[in-house]
Amino acid sequence: MPENLLANHTTARVGGPATTWVTVSTEKQLTTAIADADAANTPLLVLAGGSNMLVADAGFPGTVVHLATQGIEILESTEEYVYVRIAAGHEWDAVVAWSVAEGLTGIEALSGIPGSTGATPVQNVGAYGADISKTLVSIRAWDRQVNRIVTLTGDELEFGYRDSIIKRTIASSTTNFYHASPRWIVLSVDLQLVKTGTSAPIRYPQLARALDLELEQSAPLEQIRQTVLDLRGSKGMVLYSYDHDTWSTGSFFTNPIVPIDVAASLPADAPRFPHHEAGDTTETVKLSAAWLIDHAGFNKGFGLQDEPNTVNGRASLSTKHTLALTNRGAASTQDLVQIATVVRDGVAAKWGIHLVPEPVLIGVQLGA
Ligand SMILES: Cc1cc2nc3c(=O)[nH]c(=O)nc-3n(C[C@H](O)[C@H](O)[C@H](O)COP(=O)(O)OP(=O)(O)OC[C@H]3O[C@@H](n4cnc5c(N)ncnc54)[C@H](O)[C@@H]3O)c2cc1C
Repeated sequence: MPENLLANHTTARVGGPATTWVTVSTEKQLTTAIADADAANTPLLVLAGGSNMLVADAGFPGTVVHLATQGIEILESTEEYVYVRIAAGHEWDAVVAWSVAEGLTGIEALSGIPGSTGATPVQNVGAYGADISKTLVSIRAWDRQVNRIVTLTGDELEFGYRDSIIKRTIASSTTNFYHASPRWIVLSVDLQLVKTGTSAPIRYPQLARALDLELEQSAPLEQIRQTVLDLRGSKGMVLYSYDHDTWSTGSFFTNPIVPIDVAASLPADAPRFPHHEAGDTTETVKLSAAWLIDHAGFNKGFGLQDEPNTVNGRASLSTKHTLALTNRGAASTQDLVQIATVVRDGVAAKWGIHLVPEPVLIGVQLGA
């Protein structure tokens, strides 16, 4: 199994070789590898869990720095809170499992999200009514612009829906490999967890229903974790190597945020969620990308049948969820891109709404 083949390190299991591969297990190795690549003007791709990126079949013409730093450190424990520092490479779900076992509240609804802790602030990972911005105090990061370690607070990270100041410095493009990774490389993440022993108030109707509770009620942490894992599992959103529905990047498109009049023009049964972010001047609504895809005629499993544009079944929408684009075993990046392009264009034709990919696209883009 060639170490430098991106398909061996990404959850969609696609992507060609990198010119150079460096695995780093200490912070010093990490900052040195980044500084060296930048000093030599070599394109740099920082990769951790590989669960939110789609890399070209041609591979990456530069250095991949594979993050493998580990560690959960308790910084401070007060009567009410525990402050923890987690190394960027530490597997995120292991952190959630640890917090639940310790009776610490705040991240339990983020159970089962693949990938690393250091990537969680990049797109403000979220699920089931929670996101990392709610518990993140600050990060330590290598700032590639000034070549030193800096601290950025949650406010400075300007979190939004699947967005942060970090993500906005990644240029998704076919040619701009120099900006495949962000300006700030997260070294560690500091979280504030609460010593309550029960969950944060439930903010997601499907989760409340599964627990037979009302919104804003709480439940034991372990029960929230298990219920979220079960719900995610039923949608193919927990990684299992035997299940091709999980050979994906999770949700391939973000939920579109549109002005209120655009949302009003959709059928009454189209899901709509109130949405407001700091700085918004117009009232906006978040729509369900999965609903828009499904109701544009792209049902679960689209692509598996031998139809035009279906890349002969090598790639398809998940058979469990229309928002995940999956590798059925022998797909290339280009196969996934082809399905994504058909779906994006079909949604635009049906609803006039432009879907935007959630994963970082490296050396590849959807069709014009
Ligand atoms: C089955 C499945 C389900 C998913 N469910 C969810 C979900 O519910 N909610 C959600 O928000 N996401 C979800 N995702 C997406 C993904 O798991 C998250 O975005 C995760 O945080 C990515 O972590 P990673 O370590 O795999 O990042 P990678 O894929 O390795 O990297 C992603 C991007 O972040 C950059 N990056 C990685 N580490 C760092 C670092 N330390 N500093 C700076 N930049 C860095 C990379 O350069 C790249 O641009 C899902 C993915 C899959 C496959």
